[in-house]
Amino acid sequence: MTVGVLALQGDFREHANVLRTLGADVALVRRPEELHRVDGLVIPGGESSVMDKLSRAYGLADPLKDAIRDGLPVYGTCAGLILLADTVLDGIAGQQSLGGLDIAVRRNAFGAQTASFEADLDIPAVGDTPVHAVFIRAPVVETVGPAATALASVADGRCVAVQQGNLLGTSFHPEITGEYRFHEYFLRTVADVRFRA
Ligand code: GLN
Repeated sequence: MTVGVLALQGDFREHANVLRTLGADVALVRRPEELHRVDGLVIPGGESSVMDKLSRAYGLADPLKDAIRDGLPVYGTCAGLILLADTVLDGIAGQQSLGGLDIAVRRNAFGAQTASFEADLDIPAVGDTPVHAVFIRAPVVETVGPAATALASVADGRCVAVQQGNLLGTSFHPEITGEYRFHEYFLRTVADVRFRA
């Protein structure tokens, strides 16, 4: 089982480290042929508009969309969540997403004053103890369509984590806090899909 990490930009090294700590074989993905060799993919945090442009420039965007449509398990954090959203609000001019999650996401939704903050969240889908979540210029899931399921929200009720089939997305960054439960959850999905095939 090989898990890819999209390595165009952003904190892909942190994700690769978490996945390796959990025993996964990790492959960095920058080209279409590298994508075809992985059983799942993590899209890291960073800057979604840059990852969008680079994925199109490297000829990866269309193969990625096809892979998502064909059921490739994908976990996106922050910018990665934005790339997985069917609708992006407050994108830069011409910004596109890969899509897959039936959600509308607003970029940089927490505003300048609370651009970065931390919060403890109850997320029953990953366990009983709260998740210490770090938000860095994070997006909010503004609309959750019928195909997607909200997994977590901040104190004011705004949604910050979603799941839909083999896709998982969080506004926050488990990869930088020693929080492994989302990657474990994701690796279980990757294993399920792999062994069903
Ligand atoms: N604000 C960034 C974007 O729009 C996301 C920030 C992050 O990934 N930490 O892509």
